[in-house]
Amino acid sequence: MTNNDNLFKHQEELWSDWRWQIAHRITTTEELHNWINVTEREEQSIQKSVGKYRWSITPYYASLMDKNDEMCPIRRQAVPSLEEFEYFPNAEVDPVGDQLYRKTNRVVHKYPDRVMMLVTQSCSVYCRHCTRKYHTTDLSGSYFGDSETLSFEEDFDYIASQPAIRDVLLSGGDPLMYSDQKLEFIISRLRQIPHVEIIRIGTRFPVLLPQRITPELCAMLEKYHPIWLNTHFNHPKEITEEAAKACDQLFRHGIPVQNQTVLLKDLNDDLPTMRALLTGLLKIRVRPYYLYHCDNVTGVSHFATTIEKGRELMKGLLGHMTGFAVPQYIITTKLGKIPLWEESLHLNNDGYSIENYEGKTAELIF
Ligand SMILES: *Cc1c(COP(=O)(O)O)cnc(C)c1O
Ligand code: SF4
Repeated sequence: MTNNDNLFKHQEELWSDWRWQIAHRITTTEELHNWINVTEREEQSIQKSVGKYRWSITPYYASLMDKNDEMCPIRRQAVPSLEEFEYFPNAEVDPVGDQLYRKTNRVVHKYPDRVMMLVTQSCSVYCRHCTRKYHTTDLSGSYFGDSETLSFEEDFDYIASQPAIRDVLLSGGDPLMYSDQKLEFIISRLRQIPHVEIIRIGTRFPVLLPQRITPELCAMLEKYHPIWLNTHFNHPKEITEEAAKACDQLFRHGIPVQNQTVLLKDLNDDLPTMRALLTGLLKIRVRPYYLYHCDNVTGVSHFATTIEKGRELMKGLLGHMTGFAVPQYIITTKLGKIPLWEESLHLNNDGYSIENYEGKTAELIF
């Protein structure tokens, strides 16, 4: 091998090392210039973010950005924008009510049989549209305050004391920011609780840094089955060879991967993009689970579309595509997740009338 070959091989090794990627995240305008032609507006936004909002981008995710198009869907999800500082009526810091249902430092218990554990506030990329922006991205406040590093014992004790809990969802931030050892500590402790049937991991790593899904991680997780994983693809551009490989690794270790998309204005709220995303997910065997209506979250409101638009979009999906390509369209509220898609069954005087995906109607007679 020549020196050049060696250098190339070395660079390739670094690129596929998730720890190298985390250590080399882009956090300054100067670094961002190495990847894209940063516009004046973007530069202003980055300046304005100092002391207010975190931002960081993995080199992998930055490599998917369009160099010249400020409206590039990858760019808009990762690079700060001036709209984050605009005032929107009725926007809230915590519209989903994590704080209302918080039982211990990390456990949010909102539904009868399942809980969410917010295990960290860190992420590899700080998505500009994050529902928990106050927790992950806002420098002046978080769900944790100073309590992120407190012992997990109180959290485990709460779950152990509630026999109704059969499903524990690890979320954050992004749980896969932790080392395999730390994750194994959490998961193995949950596994010791007899009534915990399934453990779910909510992570955006398959999208933001698929190199994190290593054979070692998968082998560790496999020991604690049944483990499920929910990820968060928003745009067909994110479905890369690397992302496909990460999901494939998970499948080969028996971990089902499902997807939760957020409906984002001018990013994925048109039919061709949404169809390409959903069919693209099926091609990598990831099952679409939820389509979240974007909440009116402080610093995120500019990404929200109307519910009418979302329902219109659903009409273009249901019946037109493979049944399991179509996610459930929901909004998360303080009362829980609420389904938003059009009803196809209507009660009338004689019984029911039904409506199919083409708008054809008929009476349902029994
Ligand atoms: C979304 C969510 C869950 C999981 O809900 P599913 O509909 O079962 O996916 C659990 N706890 C909290 C607090 C949630 O927000
Ligand atoms: S990875 Fe998830 S938790 Fe982290 S900023 Fe993105 S959407 Fe929020």
